[in-house]
Amino acid sequence: MRAIFSRLKRSLSRFFSRVRFAIAGEVSQYFVGCDLGKKVDYSAVALVAKRAKVAKLTFIKRFPLETPYASVIGFIKILSVRFNPEQILVDQTGVGEYVVEDMKSAGLPNVEGLMLTMQTKEEILGYLKQQMQNCVEQCGNQKCNHPRLFQIPYDNEVIAEINLEKFELTKDGHIKFSHPEGTHDDRLWGVALAVYASRESEAPAFISIRKR
Ligand SMILES: [Zn+2]
Repeated sequence: MRAIFSRLKRSLSRFFSRVRFAIAGEVSQYFVGCDLGKKVDYSAVALVAKRAKVAKLTFIKRFPLETPYASVIGFIKILSVRFNPEQILVDQTGVGEYVVEDMKSAGLPNVEGLMLTMQTKEEILGYLKQQMQNCVEQCGNQKCNHPRLFQIPYDNEVIAEINLEKFELTKDGHIKFSHPEGTHDDRLWGVALAVYASRESEAPAFISIRKR
C-alpha cells in the first residue's frame, strides 16, 4: 500500500513539474502605459498582457483629479513588482522629464518617457487601431471572426473613449486627434501607450487610419 502511494506521489510530482514547464513556456509579457494628467486631466495607468502575439487589456486605473504624481508612481511600482513589465511607457508631455526621472530613481526598471506630438500621436493611435482591427491569422478580411491582435475583454469605458476620439485629416496629410469638450481621453492614452510598448521592435509600424 505504501509503495503504491509513493509511486503515485512520484508520478504526480513528475506530472506537476511537466505542467509547470509547459506554463513557463507560455508566460505572458506585461507592458504598462501611463498618461499623466495635470490639474484638469486624470492620470491613467493601463496594464497589457501579451502572449503569443495576442495582447489583452488586463487592467486600467484612473486616478482622482489632482492625485500627486508620487502616488501614481507608487502605484506603478506595486504593479511593477507584481508583473515585472518589459516596458513602462509614460507620456511626459507637459509634465516634463522630471516625473520620468523620479520613476527611474524610485527603482522602476524599463521606464521610457515619450513626448506626444502630432506625429507620435498618429503613430501610437494608428498602432492601437491596427492591432484592434487585424486578426491573429492576418487573413486580411476585417470582418472575419478570428480573434483580434489586441483585445479589450471587459472595459466599456475604454471602448467609449476610443469611439469618442475624433480623427481629422489636416492639409499636410497628417491626422489630428481631438476629443469632444467635457470628455476625457486619459484611459485611451494609457491603453494606447501600453499597446505601443508591446509592439515587436522588428515589425515596422504600419498605419492604416481612415478619415471619418
Ligand atoms: Zn481573420
